[in-house]
Amino acid sequence: MGSPRVQRWATLLRAYEYKIIYKPGKEHANADALSRLPLPQIGEEDDTDQVLMLEVMDDPPITTAQVKQWTARDETLSQVLVWCLKGWPREVDARYKPYSQRRLELSVKDGCVLWGARVVIPQRGRKAILQQLHHTHPGISRMKGLARSYVWWPGMDSEIEKEVQSCHTCQENRNLPAGAPLHPWEWPETPWSRLHIDYAGPFLGKMFLVIVDAHSKWIDVYPATTATSQVTIEKLRQCFSIHGLPQTLVSDNGTGFTSQEFKAFMNQNGIQHITSAPFHPASNSLAERAVQTFKQGIKKIKGDTLETKVARFLFNYRITPQTTTGLSPAEMLMSRRLRSTLDLLLPDVKSKIRKKQLKQKEQNDT
Ligand SMILES: [Zn+2]
Repeated sequence: MGSPRVQRWATLLRAYEYKIIYKPGKEHANADALSRLPLPQIGEEDDTDQVLMLEVMDDPPITTAQVKQWTARDETLSQVLVWCLKGWPREVDARYKPYSQRRLELSVKDGCVLWGARVVIPQRGRKAILQQLHHTHPGISRMKGLARSYVWWPGMDSEIEKEVQSCHTCQENRNLPAGAPLHPWEWPETPWSRLHIDYAGPFLGKMFLVIVDAHSKWIDVYPATTATSQVTIEKLRQCFSIHGLPQTLVSDNGTGFTSQEFKAFMNQNGIQHITSAPFHPASNSLAERAVQTFKQGIKKIKGDTLETKVARFLFNYRITPQTTTGLSPAEMLMSRRLRSTLDLLLPDVKSKIRKKQLKQKEQNDT
């Protein structure tokens, strides 16, 4: 621990960092969504209502306004909020300890208590947040990773563990302990420079072209009826139109990747195509792992159509921080966090101020 001044600085920097991370660019849609979104009518003491509501409404996201309300009614957290604003007493009860230990990093925004950039969730909202995080059954470490970039409460990690351990779907789909990672490839320093591709399937009646960026681990998945080179080219073209051309593309020797047509496509676009040796399958292990991640992920996701399932899986995967980097694939590839319903939890001071200014302007103009 440094001097109080250093600690204050650290807190300030953290607050500053928080703004940059969550409000990049010119999109300030949060306030809009916040003011328009109907708050779920949740009974004061009835948890089951909330669970049902989530099921029926397909995850009405919890908003800052909701967290603010719960905070004000939470005996412990409302006291913490007051202390954050007015100063902490020398001694606190045991139940305040997890907060007082972090008091230099706690702040108050919009009626919510923040620990660094994370919103402190009052007792009343924890169950619902757990459900929201658990929605796609991402497993313990991914769920923790996602939670840690948005929310905190005392004992959150162990509650996540309990939630996953008591879930059938998660237990059935638990990853087998991974062996030592085999990757003959070096990690490329720029995003989208080396891609690994492979087909998953037949699976759920389809083939899926799975594309993974070696730098960011961003995954693209394109459902297809067949795995011909014509189809592969079509899907890659679609993908490259969004992210650009890679320098290198790695695949196995599947027929879809070895035809003259495919070779010509690679040449015309200036992409070096490397086919992994069939006797050394580990050399395309990145694609194989992406296929596994996709197959395991999609099985657990509910949705009316295959497209919905794929989109839900991909979005959740892309915004979830990787354990190795602590950053999500989206952040690694696009240098920004994608806005998700979890962002509705974060107090958005900047756009509130803007809204107020606009209102004042309107009043002055009339
Ligand atoms: Zn689960």
